[in-house]
This record gives sequence, structure tokens and C-alpha cells, in this order.
Amino acid sequence: MTSPTGRAPDGPRPPDVDVLVVGAGITGIYQLYRAREAGFSAQLWEAGEGVGGTWYWNRYPGARFDSESYTYGYLFSEELFREWRWCEHFAEQPEIERYLNHVVDRFDLRRHIRLGAAVTAAVYDEPSGTWTVTAGDGRTTSARFLVAATGVLSVPYFPDVSGRQDFGGESYHTGLWPTTPVDFRGKRVAVIGTGSSGVQIIPLIADEAASLTVYQRTPNWCTPLNNGPVTPEEQAHLQEDFEAIKEILDTSPAGFLHQPYDRASTDDPPAERRAFFEKMWRSPGFSKLISHYTDVLFDEGANAQWCEFIAEKVRDIVADPAMAEKLIPRDHRFGEKRPPFVTEYYETFNKPNVSLVDLQETPILGMTAAGIETADGVRPFDLVVWATGFDFGTGALLRMGIVGRGGLSLAEHWSEGPKTFLGIQTADFPNLFFPGGPHAAAGNNPRYNGDQVDFVTDTLVYLRARGYDAIEVEPAAEQRWTAMIDRGAAKSTFGEISYYFGTNIPGKPKKYLLNSGGRPKLFAMIDEVVTNHYEAFRMSRSADSPPPPA
Ligand code: NAP
Repeated sequence: MTSPTGRAPDGPRPPDVDVLVVGAGITGIYQLYRAREAGFSAQLWEAGEGVGGTWYWNRYPGARFDSESYTYGYLFSEELFREWRWCEHFAEQPEIERYLNHVVDRFDLRRHIRLGAAVTAAVYDEPSGTWTVTAGDGRTTSARFLVAATGVLSVPYFPDVSGRQDFGGESYHTGLWPTTPVDFRGKRVAVIGTGSSGVQIIPLIADEAASLTVYQRTPNWCTPLNNGPVTPEEQAHLQEDFEAIKEILDTSPAGFLHQPYDRASTDDPPAERRAFFEKMWRSPGFSKLISHYTDVLFDEGANAQWCEFIAEKVRDIVADPAMAEKLIPRDHRFGEKRPPFVTEYYETFNKPNVSLVDLQETPILGMTAAGIETADGVRPFDLVVWATGFDFGTGALLRMGIVGRGGLSLAEHWSEGPKTFLGIQTADFPNLFFPGGPHAAAGNNPRYNGDQVDFVTDTLVYLRARGYDAIEVEPAAEQRWTAMIDRGAAKSTFGEISYYFGTNIPGKPKKYLLNSGGRPKLFAMIDEVVTNHYEAFRMSRSADSPPPPA
């Protein structure tokens, strides 16, 4: 394979690869596929010992999609879509990991993937227009283009609890779950954290452990996932409807099949409203946001009624009234944080081996060799699960040792929060792309991230066709997009209480990390870029590059 610029054999030494992708999650695998399909030499480096990204690391019991499986998988190959029959509407982690391994083998990508290669440094060399990338094992490679597909939820967060290292039992983070099975049987287990990961693992641990103590700082508005097997009839429907399904998923604002509802809560009298809330409660996953009353996320009164409906459900399900009250949020409305979807979560608190510690009443003071200490004393444990979340959005990119033009580190450039154009490039870091990173939209991630990968690939093809080998966003374009993101913060239904503002990580700049304009904004801006012949970007030939083909 020639380099994109078609260097003469006696010219300056070409980089080892045209494209180096970092991260073998759903975005990175797709980027590797697209880059190779477009004729670039490409490699992928992955820190883990297997592919899957989020779905490799988060292999805790109960981990599963809360987007429908067939809407989360790839759509670039109709054959792939048809041959992979998802067992459940919301697949569990082992099936997802099998799927991603299947894709890698099906498209002969494995030989281009290097596992166990955590990137520790990536430095741009301006004269040659290349990136030199180093992994933890000291191995180095050079690439014309660096695509960091490192994900937004890939750096687990451990709170700074004093004595954490002194704990003598087993200790695991949901986002760093071991590949060898963890045995809960007969053990006294603690789970700290009740976000989407905590509420997935808690019911499974309760089934096995001698005792389970849940340490909850803030309850969430949890509603049922309503999972189930994909029936033969549904499989047949999926097979027949590929084109229609793809069309919806390629264009829908949040990348789901769920359709928006056209009525506000005020359009219905109380009895019908209640019946609709009941219908929502029984509906699958994210339909509770997308297909709900048009005012439920935006009108305080409508939101409060829906919250009260959920609170009643919690009171109906949880036998101990005091415990039920502790499980009902008081500090935020539905949709102010990313809501978790659950299976038998509230029911778990009726089990005799399960107890709840409300950290608002008795905060964690520290850990000892034996267990966790609160104002009530030390509770001893054999095993502690940290379900305490992630350094969202920028966590991985800022830990990769990325250094751009003139020795500027990404950590310096983003010291007050990320600055991007399209959530894909940042000024002063030529030939670096980060699809699926900060400033992407909330929604069904693979759809939005896939749009970004498509744009990155089209851009590389555009450059090659014109004999350019360096591209960098203009600072003005970066400023415009970042200002749009900042303005979107005020309009977002998410509140500053959400980790989407970085507020879960002490010392992190409080900046909105999502594109609230969503896919429509991304599509519109990509159209503008293409129509204006990439004027938002500066393109060049590196100093030691031969002249472009005539
Ligand atoms: P999270 O939503 O950030 O939840 C972290 C939990 O840890 C919260 O309950 C938080 O309490 C608690 N916590 C943090 N620091 C603490 C401390 N010092 N003491 C006590 N508790 C503390 O993280 P997550 O549950 O891993 O979920 C992150 C995201 O991953 C989700 O929002 C979702 O996007 C994704 N995810 C998706 C799925 C799926 O179904 N597909 C499953 C899991 C995760 P506070 O709320 O009080 O801060």
C-alpha cells in the first residue's frame, strides 16, 4: 500500500502507517475498517487484551446495552446485519463482546490490531507532518494521521476515600472488571455507587452474595429496561426491514428507532395521563425519553407528575417504607441526569440479605483493612465494588501524552475544558482526530460516532485526492463550535449535577461536554464544510513532502 501522498521511493522516509487508530471499541473498529476500505494503510492499538472497548472493560455481571441491540450494532454491511441474530433486545456484555470479535474476524481486521498497547505518548513532528506514538511497553510507531477513538467513558473514577488502599479484601471497579470470574458466593459484599453500572450489578450480586450492602449517595430515577428475547417473528421483521431500519437510524436525531410522541401531558385528562405513564413504564429503554409527552423533559409540572408516578412505583415495589423513601430522588428531576434503566432493581431491596446505607445521612469516613467506615462505625466486607463512574469525555485523551505543534500539550490546550470543531479536531494538533470524544451528542453512541468516523474518512480521502498530507482546524472554526457547545449548556435538559458537566471529578473544569445540537447540528456543519471546500480547515503539504501529483 502506498502512502496517501504517493512518495517517491528515494524520498524522505514515509511514516510506518497512514492511519493509527487508538482504541478497539465500537468506534475504533469502525474507523479501522473504513480507513482500510478507503485504501489507507492502518493499524489499531488497544490497551486491553481483547477488542470491545467499553464492552471489554465493563464485563461486570449484569452489564448490558440499554439501546436496542440491533440499533447499536454496525449498519455498514447488510450481510453483517442479517447474519448476526441478537438473542435479546438489550444484549448482555458476553454477547456484545462476541459480536465485536465476530466483526473483527469477519472483516479480517485482527491482523491490523495490536492488543496490550496502551498509548503513553503521541507527539506531532511538524516538518514531517507525522505523529510518533509510543505504547507502555516502549514500542513506537509513526503515523501520518492519528485517530484517538478512546471513548468518553473509558477512564474509571475512584473517589479519594482515605485508606482505600488499606482494604484487605477483594476490590473491583465496574469499568475495570477482571476477565476471570468474580465469585460472590458466601461473601459480604459492598457496592458503592448507584448510577447505571451500580443498578445493573446490584441485583445480580444480591442473588449470590451472603450479604450485600449498597452505599448510595444519590438515588436515580430508575425505570424498567423491559428487556426480552428477540422472537423469531421479530428476527424475521429485522431481516426484512434492513433498509427501512437503516434509514431511520441514519437520520434520527438521537439514533434510535423510537419515534417522538406528538402530545403534551396537558392534552390528556388525568386518567388518560396516568394510563400513558403506565404505558411508558412498560416501554423499552430510551423510549421513556424519546417517545414521552413532548413537555415531560421541559416543563416542571409535567416532569414532577412523571417523577411522582415513578416514586409511587418505588413505594409499591419496596416493602420497607423507610427504604423506599431513601431510594426516591429529591435533588433532581427526571432527565436532569442520564437515567439508568433497570431489571428487578427496586425488588432487590426486599431481599433479606440486602441493606442500604444512605451516605447523605452517614457519609463514608474512610476504609480500613476490614471494611468501610461511616459515622455508624466500620462494616466489615470481603469484597467491595466501586461503581463510581468515569472521567467523562476528556479522561482518556488527556492521559495519552498528546503533544501537538510547538510542544503544546493537549492538557495545556484544554486546561479550561475541551475546545473542538465538530468534536473531531482541535487547533494546533494537525492530523489528530478524535471521533466519539468530547462534544459529541447524547443518544445512541455508535450512530453519532459512526457519523464522525465517516467524516474523518471522507476528509482523509479528500486530502489524498489533492496531494495534501496535513490538516488542521482553523482556530476560528474551533471557537465557533465550542461557543455553540457552551451556549447549548444552558438549553440542555441535563443539569450541572450531571457528569456531562465534568462535575463528578474533583478539580475538573465545569464545562458542558456534549453537543446539545445533536446529529442535526453535526450533519448541518459537515454539509457546510463540504460545500465550502473545507475552508474551516487549513491543509498543507509537509516540508519534506514531494510536490503533489500534476
Ligand atoms: P455514574 O453514573 O457516574 O455513577 C457513579 C455513582 O457513584 C453515582 O451513584 C455517584 O453518586 C457514586 N459516587 C461517586 N463518587 C462517590 C463517592 N465519593 N462516594 C459515594 N458515591 C460516589 O457512573 P456509572 O454508573 O458507571 O455510569 C456512567 C455511564 O456509563 C452511564 O451514565 C451510561 O452512560 C454508561 N453506562 C451505560 C450502561 C448501559 O446500560 N448501557 C450501563 C452502565 C453504564 P452521586 O450520584 O451522588 O455522584
